[in-house]
Amino acid sequence: MSMMGGRGRGRGLSPKDSGPKAKFSQLVPYLMEHKAALWIAMALSVLGAGISLAQPLVVGQVITAVQSGADLAGLVTALVAVILGSAVVGGFMYYVLAKAGEGVVLSARQKLAHRLLKLPIHEYDLRRTGDLVSRVGSDTTLLRAVLTQGLVDAVGGILVFVGSLVAMAFIDPLLLGLTLLMVVIAIASISVTARQVRSATTKAQQRVGDMSAAVDRALSAVRTIRAARAEKRESDAIAKDAGEAFTQGVKIARINAMITPIAGLAMNGAFIVVLGVGGYRVATGTTSVASLITFILLMFQMIRPLGQAFGAYSSVQSGLGALARIQEILDVPLEETEAEARNAAKTSALNETALEFENVSFGYAAPPATEENLNPESRVVLEGVSFAIPRGARVALVGPSGSGKSTIFSLIERFYEPSAGRILLDGQPVTEISRNSLRAQIGYVEQDAPVLAGSLRANLMIGSPDATDEQLTAVLAEVNLTEVLERDSRGLDAEVGENGIMLSGGERQRLAIARALLSAPPILLLDESTSSLDGLNEQRMRDAIDSVAKNRTLLVIAHRLSTVVDSDQIIVLEHGKVIGVGTHSELVVSTPLYKKLAKQQLLV
Ligand code: ATP
Repeated sequence: MSMMGGRGRGRGLSPKDSGPKAKFSQLVPYLMEHKAALWIAMALSVLGAGISLAQPLVVGQVITAVQSGADLAGLVTALVAVILGSAVVGGFMYYVLAKAGEGVVLSARQKLAHRLLKLPIHEYDLRRTGDLVSRVGSDTTLLRAVLTQGLVDAVGGILVFVGSLVAMAFIDPLLLGLTLLMVVIAIASISVTARQVRSATTKAQQRVGDMSAAVDRALSAVRTIRAARAEKRESDAIAKDAGEAFTQGVKIARINAMITPIAGLAMNGAFIVVLGVGGYRVATGTTSVASLITFILLMFQMIRPLGQAFGAYSSVQSGLGALARIQEILDVPLEETEAEARNAAKTSALNETALEFENVSFGYAAPPATEENLNPESRVVLEGVSFAIPRGARVALVGPSGSGKSTIFSLIERFYEPSAGRILLDGQPVTEISRNSLRAQIGYVEQDAPVLAGSLRANLMIGSPDATDEQLTAVLAEVNLTEVLERDSRGLDAEVGENGIMLSGGERQRLAIARALLSAPPILLLDESTSSLDGLNEQRMRDAIDSVAKNRTLLVIAHRLSTVVDSDQIIVLEHGKVIGVGTHSELVVSTPLYKKLAKQQLLV
């Protein structure tokens, strides 16, 4: 049965997948954010085009003046002004465009940054962190080129192109006809080639994403990899992804490399034809030397923007290739929209039952289809789970590994939604409470007790940015961590290292509990670490749990029954079903599985 099969859209692309596609219309909003800059650039581009067009005409006039022996001073000044003007306009336009290009990158990054941490949790399950990082860092930079080497150049280029054509038509229609013939041949060959750039860019960026994911995977488990002597295999895998990114990059280079020579060939061909035919016409007196030189200069003016236009086409195609990967993330619906959060009630009246599961069933979304398994199905993880936790009670969840204990916590936090049944907080269905206020009432300590790189203070204040030093010190004392504070002269500012590597496993877990406690949640969910603690640490953990249980409802996933024997209530879970509820002494009698677990841990 596929409980959530519809959620797999767009995830877990296989490496051979051609991937997402973007349309030019999706690029327009990014460009429109820089309307002013674009207008200035367009204006400069038109000005630049005018100046470029004037240049050959002034040269023609200079030649005529030399031939007729007229005064050159004015014309030479005009020529110098035109050349300088062209340089200044070009430089200024480059700056305006480059700035707008950086702006496009910034806005794509900001949009991604705001979105990336608010996706529904199931979206992260099948995506790779490194690939997401690469979309923010690398794909966004490709949008820059759309502006700096792209659109505006093309607009200016078209103006110069059309202007040159008009001037050339006046000077010599026959030569123009010959030139155009070469241009049409060039356009036809280039447009066929440039079209391949978009999909090649998406593929190249996907490979860069794969590579970043491989780096992230290896570095996040670097000790395990070293211990397993798997450095070479992991680095080979990274190098292989880098190699595939290289192959795609070279493919793009090949396509782009063809564009310039094709334009060059067309230009040289046209030049030779025009020189030959034009030279003959000068010799026969049909046209003047000045006209021919002006024509040839105009021809150079015309062909340069043609090259630019193809460059622009290619960089827009590249930008679209990268935009597809950015847009794919921006199109994922948020976990909760602001409207949904506003419509949901803020808090509820106090109820005797703090938390209740009513016949809850759940299965994680099916993984994406692969060649081996074309139609993967979601597996039921929880089935008809019901229990009620009284306010202020200390309750333990126990059961074999994989029985669904952590999943129950994820459902309480609304990381996932049940496929059937209801979860109530203070008698109110959690679906009627905004996720924000729901999470504000619940402290959650994950099994692996994540500690982030940074100081003790930064770690504690993640959820309580306004906490005072006194509060931080007090909460550390509550979980028996005063010693950690005292052993480093920097106190709260002591660094904990990447993933808290400078702390012991027990200390990390207690730091995570302290963090959850700081916001004084009425309900605390504690997924006890499976790692074994020595006697002293275990005692400290038990004391910490005793102390935090005092003023709140506490739900602990216990892997060591010793920490929960004196709970008010123990819920026993097996294969996603509740098979027993009671106190330790009741369960030893009523539930064989519990008795077995207790026996294994020498408690009976
Ligand atoms: P343990 O005591 O080992 O921590 P648990 O009782 O907490 O186990 P859960 O983590 O709830 O078990 O997992 C229940 C089942 O759901 C397992 O079979 C696991 O493979 C599966 N599962 C857990 N998380 C996910 C996920 N994000 N995506 C898909 N399946 C998952």
